[in-house]
Amino acid sequence: MTDAKKAIVIGAGFGGLALAIRLQAAGVQTTLLEKRDKPGGRAYVYHDEGFTFDAGPTVITDPTAIEALFTAAGRRMADYVELLPVAPFYQLCWEDGSRFDYANDQAALDRQIAQFNPRDVAGYQRFLAYSKAVFHEGYLKLGAVPFLSFRDMIQAGPQLARLQAWRSVYAKVSSFIEDERLRQAFSFHSLLVGGNPFATSSIYTLIHALEREWGVWFPRGGTGALVNGLVRLFEDIGGRVELNADVSSIEVANDRATGVRLEDGRQFHADCVASNADVVHTYARLLGAHPRGTQESTRLKGKRFSNSLFVIHFGLKRPQPQLQHHTVCFGPRYRALIQEIFKGKALAEDFSLYLHAPCITDPSLAPPGCSSHYVLSPVPHLGNAPIDWDVEGPRYRDRIFDYLEKHYIPGLREDLVTCCIFTPTDFQHELNAHLGSAFSLEPILTQSAWFRPHNRDAKLGNVYLVGAGTHPGAGVPGVIGSAKATAGLMLEDLHR
Ligand SMILES: Cc1cc2nc3c(=O)[nH]c(=O)nc-3n(C[C@H](O)[C@H](O)[C@H](O)COP(=O)(O)OP(=O)(O)OC[C@H]3O[C@@H](n4cnc5c(N)ncnc54)[C@H](O)[C@@H]3O)c2cc1C
Repeated sequence: MTDAKKAIVIGAGFGGLALAIRLQAAGVQTTLLEKRDKPGGRAYVYHDEGFTFDAGPTVITDPTAIEALFTAAGRRMADYVELLPVAPFYQLCWEDGSRFDYANDQAALDRQIAQFNPRDVAGYQRFLAYSKAVFHEGYLKLGAVPFLSFRDMIQAGPQLARLQAWRSVYAKVSSFIEDERLRQAFSFHSLLVGGNPFATSSIYTLIHALEREWGVWFPRGGTGALVNGLVRLFEDIGGRVELNADVSSIEVANDRATGVRLEDGRQFHADCVASNADVVHTYARLLGAHPRGTQESTRLKGKRFSNSLFVIHFGLKRPQPQLQHHTVCFGPRYRALIQEIFKGKALAEDFSLYLHAPCITDPSLAPPGCSSHYVLSPVPHLGNAPIDWDVEGPRYRDRIFDYLEKHYIPGLREDLVTCCIFTPTDFQHELNAHLGSAFSLEPILTQSAWFRPHNRDAKLGNVYLVGAGTHPGAGVPGVIGSAKATAGLMLEDLHR
Protein backbone atom coordinates (compact mmCIF):
# COMPACT_ATOMS: atom_id res chain seq x y z
CA MET A 1 0.00 0.00 0.00
CA THR A 2 3.01 2.31 -0.51
CA ASP A 3 1.07 4.42 -3.04
CA ALA A 4 -0.87 6.01 -0.17
CA LYS A 5 2.37 6.91 1.65
CA LYS A 6 4.06 10.28 1.52
CA ALA A 7 7.76 11.11 1.87
CA ILE A 8 9.66 14.36 2.13
CA VAL A 9 13.27 14.73 1.03
CA ILE A 10 15.05 17.88 2.26
CA GLY A 11 17.69 19.07 -0.20
CA ALA A 12 18.08 18.56 -3.94
CA GLY A 13 21.73 17.56 -4.15
CA PHE A 14 22.57 14.42 -6.15
CA GLY A 15 21.79 12.30 -3.07
CA GLY A 16 18.42 13.93 -2.44
CA LEU A 17 17.44 13.76 -6.10
CA ALA A 18 18.44 10.10 -6.43
CA LEU A 19 16.53 9.18 -3.28
CA ALA A 20 13.42 11.11 -4.36
CA ILE A 21 13.47 9.33 -7.74
CA ARG A 22 13.79 5.89 -6.14
CA LEU A 23 10.93 6.58 -3.69
CA GLN A 24 8.62 8.07 -6.30
CA ALA A 25 9.41 5.23 -8.70
CA ALA A 26 8.38 2.79 -5.98
CA GLY A 27 5.00 4.50 -5.62
CA VAL A 28 5.69 6.75 -2.61
CA GLN A 29 4.32 10.28 -3.15
CA THR A 30 7.52 12.25 -2.74
CA THR A 31 8.12 15.98 -2.28
CA LEU A 32 11.63 17.37 -2.67
CA LEU A 33 12.24 20.62 -0.78
CA GLU A 34 15.26 22.72 -1.77
CA LYS A 35 16.32 25.91 -0.03
CA ARG A 36 18.01 27.50 -3.05
CA ASP A 37 16.43 28.77 -6.27
CA LYS A 38 17.91 25.90 -8.30
CA PRO A 39 18.46 22.19 -7.62
CA GLY A 40 21.87 20.48 -7.58
CA GLY A 41 23.37 21.47 -4.22
CA ARG A 42 27.12 21.37 -4.72
CA ALA A 43 26.26 20.80 -8.40
CA TYR A 44 24.57 24.22 -8.72
CA VAL A 45 24.99 26.14 -11.99
CA TYR A 46 25.77 29.81 -12.61
CA HIS A 47 25.05 31.60 -15.90
CA ASP A 48 26.73 34.89 -16.72
CA GLU A 49 27.41 36.79 -19.98
CA GLY A 50 26.54 33.69 -22.01
CA PHE A 51 28.90 31.42 -20.01
CA THR A 52 27.72 28.35 -18.10
CA PHE A 53 29.64 27.50 -14.94
CA ASP A 54 29.14 24.21 -13.12
CA ALA A 55 29.79 24.94 -9.46
CA GLY A 56 30.88 21.50 -8.31
CA PRO A 57 31.27 17.98 -9.67
CA THR A 58 32.74 17.76 -13.16
CA VAL A 59 34.40 14.32 -13.11
CA ILE A 60 31.41 12.05 -13.65
CA THR A 61 32.21 8.40 -12.99
CA ASP A 62 30.11 5.23 -12.70
CA PRO A 63 27.45 6.04 -15.32
CA THR A 64 25.80 2.73 -14.40
CA ALA A 65 24.70 4.17 -11.04
CA ILE A 66 23.07 7.11 -12.84
CA GLU A 67 21.47 4.86 -15.44
CA ALA A 68 20.02 2.68 -12.67
CA LEU A 69 17.91 5.66 -11.53
CA PHE A 70 16.30 5.92 -14.95
CA THR A 71 15.80 2.16 -15.12
CA ALA A 72 14.18 2.15 -11.65
CA ALA A 73 11.74 4.76 -12.97
CA GLY A 74 11.04 2.76 -16.16
CA ARG A 75 12.70 5.37 -18.41
CA ARG A 76 15.73 5.53 -20.71
CA MET A 77 18.67 7.70 -19.68
CA ALA A 78 19.31 8.58 -23.33
CA ASP A 79 15.97 10.43 -23.44
CA TYR A 80 17.12 12.77 -20.67
CA VAL A 81 20.87 13.23 -20.77
CA GLU A 82 23.85 12.49 -23.00
CA LEU A 83 27.14 11.54 -21.38
CA LEU A 84 30.25 12.42 -23.42
CA PRO A 85 33.50 10.51 -22.86
CA VAL A 86 36.43 12.56 -21.53
CA ALA A 87 39.90 11.71 -22.84
CA PRO A 88 42.39 11.77 -21.32
CA PHE A 89 40.66 11.37 -17.96
CA TYR A 90 43.01 13.99 -16.50
CA GLN A 91 46.24 15.70 -17.36
CA LEU A 92 48.57 15.84 -14.37
CA CYS A 93 51.20 18.57 -14.40
CA TRP A 94 54.17 19.37 -12.18
CA GLU A 95 56.19 22.55 -11.85
CA ASP A 96 59.31 20.83 -13.23
CA GLY A 97 57.46 20.65 -16.56
CA SER A 98 56.59 16.95 -16.44
CA ARG A 99 53.17 15.92 -17.67
CA PHE A 100 51.18 12.72 -17.33
CA ASP A 101 48.11 12.04 -19.47
CA TYR A 102 46.08 9.73 -17.34
CA ALA A 103 44.12 7.84 -19.98
CA ASN A 104 42.21 4.57 -20.21
CA ASP A 105 44.75 3.09 -22.60
CA GLN A 106 47.13 0.59 -21.05
CA ALA A 107 49.85 0.93 -23.69
CA ALA A 108 49.85 4.74 -23.40
CA LEU A 109 49.91 4.50 -19.60
CA ASP A 110 52.79 2.03 -19.61
CA ARG A 111 54.78 4.23 -21.99
CA GLN A 112 54.38 7.26 -19.76
CA ILE A 113 55.01 5.35 -16.53
CA ALA A 114 58.21 3.93 -18.06
CA GLN A 115 59.38 7.47 -18.86
CA PHE A 116 59.04 8.38 -15.18
CA ASN A 117 60.47 5.10 -13.85
CA PRO A 118 60.66 1.80 -15.82
CA ARG A 119 60.34 -0.30 -12.63
CA ASP A 120 56.96 1.27 -11.93
CA VAL A 121 55.34 -0.37 -14.99
CA ALA A 122 55.18 -3.68 -13.12
CA GLY A 123 54.41 -1.88 -9.85
CA TYR A 124 51.45 -0.17 -11.50
CA GLN A 125 50.07 -3.56 -12.60
CA ARG A 126 50.18 -4.74 -8.98
CA PHE A 127 48.54 -1.51 -7.84
CA LEU A 128 45.78 -1.90 -10.44
CA ALA A 129 45.11 -5.48 -9.29
CA TYR A 130 44.88 -4.25 -5.68
CA SER A 131 42.62 -1.34 -6.66
CA LYS A 132 40.32 -3.74 -8.55
CA ALA A 133 40.06 -6.04 -5.51
CA VAL A 134 39.13 -3.08 -3.29
CA PHE A 135 36.64 -1.84 -5.89
CA HIS A 136 34.98 -5.25 -5.89
CA GLU A 137 34.73 -5.51 -2.10
CA GLY A 138 34.28 -1.87 -1.13
CA TYR A 139 32.16 -0.49 -3.96
CA LEU A 140 30.32 -3.28 -5.75
CA LYS A 141 29.53 -5.27 -2.59
CA LEU A 142 29.28 -2.64 0.17
CA GLY A 143 28.78 0.73 -1.57
CA ALA A 144 24.98 0.74 -1.27
CA VAL A 145 24.52 -1.39 1.87
CA PRO A 146 23.41 0.53 4.98
CA PHE A 147 25.71 -0.18 7.94
CA LEU A 148 23.13 -0.01 10.74
CA SER A 149 24.64 -2.39 13.24
CA PHE A 150 28.16 -3.06 14.42
CA ARG A 151 27.60 -6.67 13.31
CA ASP A 152 27.55 -5.42 9.68
CA MET A 153 30.95 -3.85 10.33
CA ILE A 154 32.33 -7.02 11.88
CA GLN A 155 31.12 -9.02 8.90
CA ALA A 156 33.04 -6.73 6.56
CA GLY A 157 36.08 -6.90 8.89
CA PRO A 158 37.95 -9.83 7.36
CA GLN A 159 37.85 -8.35 3.84
CA LEU A 160 38.92 -4.93 5.17
CA ALA A 161 41.77 -6.58 7.07
CA ARG A 162 42.83 -8.61 4.02
CA LEU A 163 42.92 -5.42 1.95
CA GLN A 164 44.91 -3.61 4.67
CA ALA A 165 42.22 -0.92 4.94
CA TRP A 166 44.03 0.59 7.95
CA ARG A 167 46.84 1.79 5.70
CA SER A 168 46.52 5.17 4.01
CA VAL A 169 45.96 5.64 0.29
CA TYR A 170 49.44 7.11 -0.12
CA ALA A 171 51.14 4.36 1.92
CA LYS A 172 49.44 1.67 -0.13
CA VAL A 173 50.24 3.32 -3.47
CA SER A 174 53.85 3.76 -2.33
CA SER A 175 54.11 0.05 -1.56
CA PHE A 176 53.74 -0.56 -5.32
CA ILE A 177 55.16 2.56 -6.95
CA GLU A 178 58.55 4.28 -6.44
CA ASP A 179 58.45 7.52 -8.40
CA GLU A 180 57.15 10.40 -6.26
CA ARG A 181 55.21 12.00 -9.13
CA LEU A 182 53.51 8.67 -9.93
CA ARG A 183 52.73 8.21 -6.24
CA GLN A 184 50.95 11.56 -6.41
CA ALA A 185 49.24 10.64 -9.69
CA PHE A 186 47.71 7.50 -8.19
CA SER A 187 46.93 8.82 -4.72
CA PHE A 188 45.36 12.27 -5.27
CA HIS A 189 41.92 10.76 -6.09
CA SER A 190 40.76 10.63 -2.48
CA LEU A 191 40.95 14.45 -2.48
CA LEU A 192 38.03 14.40 -4.93
CA VAL A 193 35.84 13.10 -2.10
CA GLY A 194 37.44 15.09 0.73
CA GLY A 195 39.93 12.43 1.82
CA ASN A 196 43.51 13.20 2.81
CA PRO A 197 45.60 10.61 0.89
CA PHE A 198 47.92 10.39 3.92
CA ALA A 199 45.09 9.64 6.38
CA THR A 200 42.21 8.18 4.41
CA SER A 201 41.80 4.41 4.24
CA SER A 202 43.41 2.68 1.27
CA ILE A 203 39.86 1.56 0.42
CA TYR A 204 39.68 4.83 -1.51
CA THR A 205 42.18 3.52 -4.06
CA LEU A 206 39.05 1.89 -5.50
CA ILE A 207 38.36 5.18 -7.35
CA HIS A 208 41.19 4.29 -9.72
CA ALA A 209 39.65 0.92 -10.66
CA LEU A 210 36.22 2.52 -10.90
CA GLU A 211 37.51 5.03 -13.45
CA ARG A 212 39.34 2.34 -15.41
CA GLU A 213 36.19 0.16 -15.40
CA TRP A 214 33.57 2.68 -16.51
CA GLY A 215 35.50 5.73 -17.71
CA VAL A 216 35.22 9.45 -16.98
CA TRP A 217 32.25 11.28 -18.49
CA PHE A 218 30.83 14.75 -18.87
CA PRO A 219 27.17 15.47 -19.55
CA ARG A 220 26.46 17.45 -22.71
CA GLY A 221 25.51 20.91 -21.46
CA GLY A 222 27.48 20.41 -18.24
CA THR A 223 26.81 18.68 -14.92
CA GLY A 224 23.82 21.02 -14.55
CA ALA A 225 22.23 19.27 -17.54
CA LEU A 226 22.47 15.99 -15.63
CA VAL A 227 20.84 17.62 -12.59
CA ASN A 228 18.05 18.99 -14.81
CA GLY A 229 17.61 15.56 -16.41
CA LEU A 230 17.15 13.98 -12.97
CA VAL A 231 14.66 16.68 -11.94
CA ARG A 232 12.69 16.15 -15.18
CA LEU A 233 12.71 12.39 -14.60
CA PHE A 234 11.42 12.87 -11.05
CA GLU A 235 8.64 15.22 -12.20
CA ASP A 236 7.72 13.01 -15.16
CA ILE A 237 6.97 10.14 -12.80
CA GLY A 238 4.82 12.36 -10.57
CA GLY A 239 7.29 13.79 -8.03
CA ARG A 240 6.98 17.36 -6.74
CA VAL A 241 9.91 19.77 -6.41
CA GLU A 242 9.64 22.95 -4.35
CA LEU A 243 12.50 25.42 -4.79
CA ASN A 244 13.12 28.34 -2.41
CA ALA A 245 11.82 26.01 0.29
CA ASP A 246 14.12 26.55 3.26
CA VAL A 247 13.26 23.94 5.89
CA SER A 248 13.51 25.30 9.44
CA SER A 249 12.50 22.16 11.35
CA ILE A 250 11.56 18.52 11.11
CA GLU A 251 8.39 18.21 13.17
CA VAL A 252 8.48 15.32 15.65
CA ALA A 253 5.76 13.83 17.85
CA ASN A 254 6.28 10.73 20.02
CA ASP A 255 9.73 10.16 18.49
CA ARG A 256 8.28 10.03 14.96
CA ALA A 257 8.63 12.70 12.28
CA THR A 258 5.27 14.04 11.14
CA GLY A 259 6.53 16.46 8.49
CA VAL A 260 8.51 19.66 8.15
CA ARG A 261 8.08 23.39 8.63
CA LEU A 262 9.66 25.99 6.32
CA GLU A 263 11.21 29.34 7.24
CA ASP A 264 8.27 31.06 5.51
CA GLY A 265 5.82 29.19 7.76
CA ARG A 266 4.55 26.63 5.27
CA GLN A 267 4.11 23.08 6.57
CA PHE A 268 4.32 19.73 4.80
CA HIS A 269 3.10 16.47 6.31
CA ALA A 270 4.57 13.06 5.53
CA ASP A 271 4.93 9.50 6.77
CA CYS A 272 8.72 9.79 6.69
CA VAL A 273 11.39 12.46 6.23
CA ALA A 274 14.87 12.14 4.74
CA SER A 275 17.50 14.87 4.94
CA ASN A 276 20.07 15.47 2.24
CA ALA A 277 21.18 18.61 4.05
CA ASP A 278 24.46 18.70 5.98
CA VAL A 279 24.34 16.19 8.88
CA VAL A 280 25.27 18.70 11.59
CA HIS A 281 22.70 21.18 10.22
CA THR A 282 20.11 18.38 10.17
CA TYR A 283 20.60 17.45 13.82
CA ALA A 284 21.52 20.85 15.29
CA ARG A 285 18.98 22.97 13.48
CA LEU A 286 16.25 20.87 11.84
CA LEU A 287 15.95 18.54 14.85
CA GLY A 288 17.19 21.14 17.36
CA ALA A 289 13.93 21.14 19.31
CA HIS A 290 14.22 17.40 20.06
CA PRO A 291 16.75 16.00 22.57
CA ARG A 292 17.98 13.62 19.86
CA GLY A 293 18.98 16.60 17.72
CA THR A 294 21.00 18.24 20.49
CA GLN A 295 22.64 14.99 21.54
CA GLU A 296 23.61 13.83 18.04
CA SER A 297 24.77 17.24 16.81
CA THR A 298 27.03 17.61 19.86
CA ARG A 299 28.53 14.18 19.10
CA LEU A 300 29.00 15.00 15.40
CA LYS A 301 30.64 18.36 16.09
CA GLY A 302 33.44 16.41 17.81
CA LYS A 303 34.25 14.55 14.56
CA ARG A 304 36.82 15.40 11.92
CA PHE A 305 35.49 17.29 8.90
CA SER A 306 36.90 17.42 5.39
CA ASN A 307 38.67 20.42 4.01
CA SER A 308 36.93 23.26 2.25
CA LEU A 309 37.53 24.63 -1.25
CA PHE A 310 38.14 28.03 -2.79
CA VAL A 311 36.65 28.12 -6.30
CA ILE A 312 37.01 30.76 -9.03
CA HIS A 313 34.61 30.62 -11.98
CA PHE A 314 35.85 32.60 -14.94
CA GLY A 315 35.00 33.15 -18.60
CA LEU A 316 37.62 34.01 -21.23
CA LYS A 317 37.19 35.57 -24.65
CA ARG A 318 39.47 32.98 -26.26
CA PRO A 319 39.47 29.17 -26.42
CA GLN A 320 42.32 27.43 -24.56
CA PRO A 321 43.33 24.51 -26.79
CA GLN A 322 46.57 23.97 -24.82
CA LEU A 323 44.51 22.66 -21.88
CA GLN A 324 42.83 19.31 -21.36
CA HIS A 325 39.31 19.10 -19.92
CA HIS A 326 40.62 18.20 -16.43
CA THR A 327 44.05 19.37 -15.29
CA VAL A 328 45.56 18.69 -11.89
CA CYS A 329 48.29 21.24 -11.25
CA PHE A 330 50.63 19.86 -8.58
CA GLY A 331 52.52 22.54 -6.67
CA PRO A 332 56.03 22.27 -5.22
CA ARG A 333 54.92 20.37 -2.09
CA TYR A 334 52.55 17.41 -1.78
CA ARG A 335 52.56 15.83 1.70
CA ALA A 336 53.31 19.05 3.58
CA LEU A 337 50.73 21.05 1.64
CA ILE A 338 48.02 18.42 2.18
CA GLN A 339 48.75 18.35 5.92
CA GLU A 340 48.31 22.14 6.00
CA ILE A 341 45.04 21.89 4.05
CA PHE A 342 43.62 19.35 6.50
CA LYS A 343 45.13 20.63 9.75
CA GLY A 344 46.64 24.07 9.11
CA LYS A 345 45.49 27.24 10.86
CA ALA A 346 46.09 29.49 7.86
CA LEU A 347 46.40 29.50 4.08
CA ALA A 348 49.58 27.95 2.73
CA GLU A 349 51.89 30.08 0.58
CA ASP A 350 51.80 27.55 -2.28
CA PHE A 351 48.90 25.59 -3.73
CA SER A 352 47.91 22.61 -5.84
CA LEU A 353 45.00 23.32 -8.14
CA TYR A 354 42.36 21.58 -10.20
CA LEU A 355 41.57 23.43 -13.44
CA HIS A 356 38.35 22.78 -15.33
CA ALA A 357 38.14 23.51 -19.07
CA PRO A 358 34.78 21.97 -20.09
CA CYS A 359 34.70 23.61 -23.54
CA ILE A 360 37.36 21.11 -24.60
CA THR A 361 34.57 18.49 -24.47
CA ASP A 362 31.52 20.72 -25.00
CA PRO A 363 32.05 24.19 -26.52
CA SER A 364 28.36 25.07 -25.91
CA LEU A 365 29.27 26.10 -22.34
CA ALA A 366 30.66 29.43 -23.57
CA PRO A 367 29.75 31.91 -26.32
CA PRO A 368 31.34 31.09 -29.70
CA GLY A 369 35.13 31.48 -29.63
CA CYS A 370 35.20 31.79 -25.83
CA SER A 371 35.89 29.36 -22.98
CA SER A 372 34.44 28.84 -19.51
CA HIS A 373 36.52 27.58 -16.60
CA TYR A 374 36.80 27.03 -12.94
CA VAL A 375 39.86 26.55 -10.82
CA LEU A 376 39.71 25.19 -7.32
CA SER A 377 42.19 25.21 -4.50
CA PRO A 378 41.66 22.94 -1.47
CA VAL A 379 41.86 25.08 1.69
CA PRO A 380 41.35 24.44 5.42
CA HIS A 381 37.79 24.51 6.75
CA LEU A 382 36.66 27.40 8.93
CA GLY A 383 37.06 25.41 12.16
CA ASN A 384 40.81 25.08 11.54
CA ALA A 385 41.42 28.41 9.81
CA PRO A 386 38.80 31.07 10.63
CA ILE A 387 39.82 33.26 7.69
CA ASP A 388 37.85 36.40 6.81
CA TRP A 389 37.16 35.40 3.22
CA ASP A 390 35.60 38.78 2.34
CA VAL A 391 39.10 40.21 2.77
CA GLU A 392 41.23 37.22 1.80
CA GLY A 393 39.10 35.97 -1.13
CA PRO A 394 40.03 38.67 -3.70
CA ARG A 395 43.73 38.46 -2.64
CA TYR A 396 43.75 34.69 -2.97
CA ARG A 397 42.02 34.92 -6.36
CA ASP A 398 44.77 37.26 -7.58
CA ARG A 399 47.50 34.89 -6.38
CA ILE A 400 45.86 31.99 -8.22
CA PHE A 401 45.42 34.05 -11.38
CA ASP A 402 49.13 35.02 -11.25
CA TYR A 403 50.01 31.34 -11.01
CA LEU A 404 47.69 30.30 -13.85
CA GLU A 405 49.01 33.09 -16.08
CA LYS A 406 52.57 31.97 -15.44
CA HIS A 407 52.06 28.24 -15.91
CA TYR A 408 48.82 27.43 -17.78
CA ILE A 409 46.85 30.34 -19.30
CA PRO A 410 49.11 33.15 -20.58
CA GLY A 411 47.20 36.42 -20.93
CA LEU A 412 44.37 35.22 -18.65
CA ARG A 413 43.58 38.68 -17.26
CA GLU A 414 43.58 40.33 -20.71
CA ASP A 415 41.02 37.79 -21.90
CA LEU A 416 38.88 37.84 -18.78
CA VAL A 417 35.18 38.53 -19.48
CA THR A 418 33.63 37.50 -16.17
CA CYS A 419 34.72 36.03 -12.87
CA CYS A 420 33.26 35.15 -9.46
CA ILE A 421 34.50 33.33 -6.39
CA PHE A 422 32.97 30.78 -3.99
CA THR A 423 34.66 30.56 -0.59
CA PRO A 424 34.39 28.38 2.55
CA THR A 425 32.04 31.03 3.96
CA ASP A 426 29.75 30.48 0.97
CA PHE A 427 29.76 26.70 1.63
CA GLN A 428 28.70 27.54 5.18
CA HIS A 429 25.99 30.07 4.32
CA GLU A 430 24.66 28.87 0.97
CA LEU A 431 24.76 25.13 1.67
CA ASN A 432 24.53 25.10 5.49
CA ALA A 433 27.81 23.16 5.48
CA HIS A 434 29.27 22.72 8.98
CA LEU A 435 32.58 24.66 9.17
CA GLY A 436 32.23 25.29 5.43
CA SER A 437 33.45 21.75 4.73
CA ALA A 438 33.11 20.87 1.05
CA PHE A 439 32.65 17.12 1.62
CA SER A 440 31.16 16.72 5.14
CA LEU A 441 32.79 14.24 7.57
CA GLU A 442 36.36 13.32 6.65
CA PRO A 443 36.37 9.79 5.20
CA ILE A 444 38.86 8.22 7.59
CA LEU A 445 38.31 4.57 8.58
CA THR A 446 36.93 5.49 12.03
CA GLN A 447 34.32 7.73 10.36
CA SER A 448 33.31 5.31 7.59
CA ALA A 449 30.63 2.62 7.18
CA TRP A 450 29.07 1.89 10.60
CA PHE A 451 31.12 4.73 12.13
CA ARG A 452 29.49 7.29 9.78
CA PRO A 453 26.06 8.76 10.62
CA HIS A 454 23.62 5.99 9.69
CA ASN A 455 21.22 6.10 6.76
CA ARG A 456 18.35 5.76 9.29
CA ASP A 457 18.44 7.58 12.60
CA ALA A 458 18.88 5.23 15.54
CA LYS A 459 16.17 6.87 17.71
CA LEU A 460 13.71 8.57 15.37
CA GLY A 461 12.58 5.57 13.35
CA ASN A 462 11.20 7.42 10.32
CA VAL A 463 13.99 9.99 9.94
CA TYR A 464 16.68 9.16 7.38
CA LEU A 465 19.88 10.65 6.01
CA VAL A 466 21.14 10.69 2.44
CA GLY A 467 24.20 12.29 0.86
CA ALA A 468 27.83 12.94 1.64
CA GLY A 469 27.49 12.79 5.45
CA THR A 470 26.12 9.25 5.56
CA HIS A 471 27.34 5.89 4.20
CA PRO A 472 29.20 5.48 1.89
CA GLY A 473 30.20 9.15 1.64
CA ALA A 474 30.94 12.06 -0.70
CA GLY A 475 31.33 12.12 -4.47
CA VAL A 476 28.57 11.65 -7.03
CA PRO A 477 28.76 7.82 -7.09
CA GLY A 478 28.96 7.82 -3.28
CA VAL A 479 25.84 9.92 -2.69
CA ILE A 480 23.90 8.04 -5.38
CA GLY A 481 24.92 4.84 -3.56
CA SER A 482 23.74 6.36 -0.28
CA ALA A 483 20.36 7.05 -1.91
CA LYS A 484 20.06 3.38 -2.87
CA ALA A 485 20.86 2.30 0.71
CA THR A 486 18.45 4.85 2.23
CA ALA A 487 15.64 4.12 -0.26
CA GLY A 488 15.93 0.40 0.55
CA LEU A 489 15.44 1.13 4.26
CA MET A 490 12.59 3.59 3.73
CA LEU A 491 10.66 1.26 1.44
CA GLU A 492 11.17 -1.65 3.81
CA ASP A 493 9.91 0.46 6.73
CA LEU A 494 6.92 1.80 4.77
CA HIS A 495 5.91 -1.73 3.76
CA ARG A 496 6.09 -3.02 7.32
C1 LIG B 1 33.78 22.21 -6.09
C2 LIG B 1 33.47 20.75 -5.95
C3 LIG B 1 33.91 19.86 -6.92
C4 LIG B 1 33.58 18.51 -6.83
N1 LIG B 1 33.98 17.67 -7.83
C5 LIG B 1 33.52 16.40 -7.83
C6 LIG B 1 33.74 15.58 -8.97
O1 LIG B 1 34.34 16.02 -9.96
N2 LIG B 1 33.24 14.32 -8.95
C7 LIG B 1 32.54 13.83 -7.88
O2 LIG B 1 32.07 12.67 -7.93
N3 LIG B 1 32.32 14.59 -6.78
C8 LIG B 1 32.78 15.85 -6.75
N4 LIG B 1 32.52 16.66 -5.67
C9 LIG B 1 31.78 16.10 -4.52
C10 LIG B 1 30.30 16.03 -4.82
O3 LIG B 1 29.90 17.15 -5.55
C11 LIG B 1 29.48 15.99 -3.54
O4 LIG B 1 29.97 15.03 -2.64
C12 LIG B 1 28.02 15.67 -3.83
O5 LIG B 1 27.52 16.38 -4.94
C13 LIG B 1 27.20 16.01 -2.59
O6 LIG B 1 25.87 15.65 -2.81
P1 LIG B 1 24.84 15.56 -1.63
O7 LIG B 1 23.74 14.66 -2.07
O8 LIG B 1 25.52 15.22 -0.35
O9 LIG B 1 24.14 16.98 -1.52
P2 LIG B 1 24.62 18.50 -1.64
O10 LIG B 1 25.12 18.75 -3.00
O11 LIG B 1 25.42 18.87 -0.48
O12 LIG B 1 23.17 19.17 -1.54
C14 LIG B 1 22.48 19.34 -0.34
C15 LIG B 1 21.31 20.25 -0.63
O13 LIG B 1 20.57 20.49 0.57
C16 LIG B 1 20.10 21.82 0.54
N5 LIG B 1 19.76 22.25 1.89
C17 LIG B 1 20.60 22.44 2.94
N6 LIG B 1 19.90 22.85 4.02
C18 LIG B 1 18.59 22.90 3.65
C19 LIG B 1 17.40 23.25 4.31
N7 LIG B 1 17.38 23.63 5.60
N8 LIG B 1 16.22 23.22 3.61
C20 LIG B 1 16.20 22.84 2.30
N9 LIG B 1 17.31 22.50 1.63
C21 LIG B 1 18.49 22.53 2.29
C22 LIG B 1 21.27 22.59 -0.04
O14 LIG B 1 20.90 23.86 -0.53
C23 LIG B 1 21.73 21.64 -1.14
O15 LIG B 1 21.07 21.91 -2.34
C24 LIG B 1 32.84 18.02 -5.73
C25 LIG B 1 32.42 18.91 -4.73
C26 LIG B 1 32.72 20.26 -4.84
C27 LIG B 1 32.23 21.20 -3.78
